[in-house]
Formats: sequence, structure tokens, C-alpha cells
Amino acid sequence: MVNVELQKVSKSYGKVNVLKNLDLRIEDGEFFVLLGSSGSGKSTTLNILAGLDKLDSGKILFDNTLVNELSPIERGVALVFQNYALYPHMTVYKNMAFPLKMLNYRKERIGPIIKEVAEKLDITALLDRYPKELSGGQAQRVALGRALVRDPKIFLLDEPLSNLDANIRSKIRNDLKIMQEELGKTFVYVTHDQMEAMSLGDHVGILHNGKLEQFGKPIDIYKHPNNAFVATFLGDPEINLFSYSWNGKSFDGDGPFNFNININISKITMGIRPENISLEKKGANTMAGKIIPKVSELLGSHTLIVAKTLAGKDIKIITDMTDIPIGKEINVYANIEDCIMFDEQGETINI
Ligand code: ADP
Ligand code: MG
Repeated sequence: MVNVELQKVSKSYGKVNVLKNLDLRIEDGEFFVLLGSSGSGKSTTLNILAGLDKLDSGKILFDNTLVNELSPIERGVALVFQNYALYPHMTVYKNMAFPLKMLNYRKERIGPIIKEVAEKLDITALLDRYPKELSGGQAQRVALGRALVRDPKIFLLDEPLSNLDANIRSKIRNDLKIMQEELGKTFVYVTHDQMEAMSLGDHVGILHNGKLEQFGKPIDIYKHPNNAFVATFLGDPEINLFSYSWNGKSFDGDGPFNFNININISKITMGIRPENISLEKKGANTMAGKIIPKVSELLGSHTLIVAKTLAGKDIKIITDMTDIPIGKEINVYANIEDCIMFDEQGETINI
């Protein structure tokens, strides 16, 4: 059982400063997700945690003990990559036994370990198969199994689902979450997929250009983003952003609503999530405005409306309604409390 801490970790490759003073604390037994777009430094962070790559400055602590100089084996971490790289000429059993053989475990000791791990992962029936006889999801489990036999203290997973078909991805995602809870091990999971981050993470860290933009519970980050970058990164369809300025009486701009807030800035960006705009007036304090729907898409339980504001700006709305008049002006409503305001630098303004 271990907590993991990065203190002021920096890393450059040549002139490229990939990680910039990264501070992060991951609690014992939690599912932590590091979320960022491609090139943001996620794999570099994992490789440094694993001990496969050296940091330039800063500290890595496992259970408050400095591990900077320890090898991957000494650190007791297991890395699971995007391409699981099972050995094609070995059965599932032999694939799982391989890391133990490398550690000179005797046969009599290996058998029971594999049996136990296979049962945990529900892959006992697959032990005699070869990798080419496995589905993507099964291969994923075997790869996890191979990591698990060494009883690592920490699991490091680098986009482990990205090679899977969309239809099994959510199933494996659920399995992973359940498995992590059962194992009670610390997971550090890296992904560019905000859905994965939202659904898996006890805590999520948003990495952008090697800097941690925000850390917290997924729902807290979603509701209270530190800045417009984070607000846009989480949520699909993404948050609507509009430009507003103070006209002496109210804020008006290219969004559907005019509003008054007590603030000492004349130019702001107003953000509102598609699910927070309604086609029906809800309370006395709602703001009202008009939009012109262009397209509506039925997304199963709800409808996505793609529309224009009267100022000609695109706006997306999620609603329960199905009969949407296309090309006609309709009323929309929202509460000011559901809006997130940003200053000209994109930082969130507390109102
Ligand atoms: P991510 O996993 O978030 O996509 P990476 O950590 O792989 O990002 O890479 C972050 C940045 O560091 C990228 O700009 C990448 O080109 C650069 N980089 C990663 N590894 C190396 C390396 N071994 N040599 C030089 N540049 C690298
Ligand atoms: Mg990567």
C-alpha cells in the first residue's frame, strides 16, 4: 500500500521542457487519472514514476520515501502500456509466468500464483490459449494479469484502452474500475479521453503543456474549472463560450442572454454547459433569450440541438424534448448560477 508524491518534478528533452515543476499527491489505494491531450507529458510522467526515465530536478516519493535513484524493480511498480505486447508464441499461462521466471521463481511457486491471479481476473479458462486466440478485452486482462503476478505496489497504466474497439471499451473500463476496487492498489492511469477520466478517477489531474492545470474530484473540476481550458477539456459536447462586454447597463455579447453581475471588469467570457440551457422557463430568476436551431440529433435518452444565437454564434443545447422546430426562433432559458465566467486571460472569475 503506497501513496505517491511528485514534488517540483521537471524534465526536458533537449530544449523541450516537457514537465514544469509538477506537484502531485496520489493517495494510497486510489484510482488516479492523469488527463491531457497528446504531447502534454503524460507518458513522460509515468516513465519517471516507473523509473524508466530520469527526472532533471524534483523528488519522487513512495510512502514518503525518496525513490529517485531506485530501479523499476526496486520501486515495485507495474507498467501496462497501450499495446500490451503479449508474447505471441507463448500461451496465456506462459505469458503470465514469464516475469516470475525472470525473477528465478521455481515452477512449484509459479503455478499457485498464476492460478490465483487468473481467478481474480476471470481468465482461468484462457490459460492454454495463444494471444491470437484472444479478444481485445481478454488480451487486456492477460496483460494486467502479467503485471499482477509480481504483486506490484503501484499500477501505472498508459492509455491501456485506446487500442480497443469502442463497443468493448466501456465494458473493460467498468471491469478495470471494479478490479482496482477489489485489489485496493494505487492506480495511476493516463489518458487523453475525458470520458475515461470522469468515469474512472477518484481524483483527476489535468495536464497541459507539462503543467498541472487542476487537480480534484472529477465532478468538482467539471463544475468548478480553474480556467477556460479545463472547462472546455471536460464535457462532451463541450461548454459553450461567449464574449461579453459591459454596455453601461448590462453585459451583452454573442450569447443568447444579457445579464447583470457585480464585477469590476468590462470584458468577460461567459461559459454555459449544453445541459444547463433549457427550452422551458424554470424559475423566477431565469435569464431568457432566443436561438435558431439548425440541426437536432437524437442521442438516445436526450436530444442535442445545434443552433445559432441571434448574434450568429454557434450554441449547443441538450434537452429532453424531441420535437425541435428547425430554422425558427425559439426561447431558451438559463440560470446565472450555472454560468462560469472567465477573464480575458481565461481564468475563472468568482462571482
Ligand atoms: P503524452 O504521453 O501526453 O502524449 P509525452 O510524455 O509522450 O506526451 O511527450 C511529451 C513531449 O515530450 C512531446 O512533445 C514529445 O515529443 C516529447 N518527448 C517525449 N519523449 C521524448 C524523448 N525520448 N525525446 C525527445 N522528446 C520526447
Ligand atoms: Mg503518451
